Amino acid sequence: MDVPCPKCGLLNLRKYGKTRAGRQKYRCSNPGCRRQFVAGSDHLLDPKVKDRVEKLLSAGEHPVRISQAEAGVSLRWIYELRRKKYPKFDPALRNQIRDVILRLLSENVPPDKIARALDSIPGKFSLRWIYKMRKQIIV
Ligand SMILES: [Zn+2]
Repeated sequence: MDVPCPKCGLLNLRKYGKTRAGRQKYRCSNPGCRRQFVAGSDHLLDPKVKDRVEKLLSAGEHPVRISQAEAGVSLRWIYELRRKKYPKFDPALRNQIRDVILRLLSENVPPDKIARALDSIPGKFSLRWIYKMRKQIIV
C-alpha cells in the first residue's frame, strides 16, 4: 500500500485482515507505531492533507491536478471525496443551468416556477439564490 502511515509517516502499512463488513484492514509495520487502519477511511490521510484537498475541491480545482500536487493522495480517493462532499457536482452543467435561469428571469418567469422546474436537475439551485439573481438583473 503506497500510502504513508498517518501516525508515523512511514510507508509501512501492511495488510492486516478484514473488518466484519469485509473491508481490508492495514497495520503499520513500524514497531514503535503498530497503528491499524481500514482501507478507504479518512484516517489513512493526514488531516492537513485532507484539509488542503477539500479546499482545492471547493475552489473548483480538478481532482487530477490535486493528485499531482499532493503526493500520496490517490486520485480515486479525491474523486470519492468530491462525490461525497459535492454530490452531482459538475461545473459545466451548473453554468449551463445558471444561464437558463438568468434567461428565464429576464423573461419575467416567476422564481418559484423556475425552482419547481429545476427540482429534478443536478446541482439544484435554491429558490433564495434565484431571487438573489433576479434582484441583480432587474434594476
Ligand atoms: Zn505508523
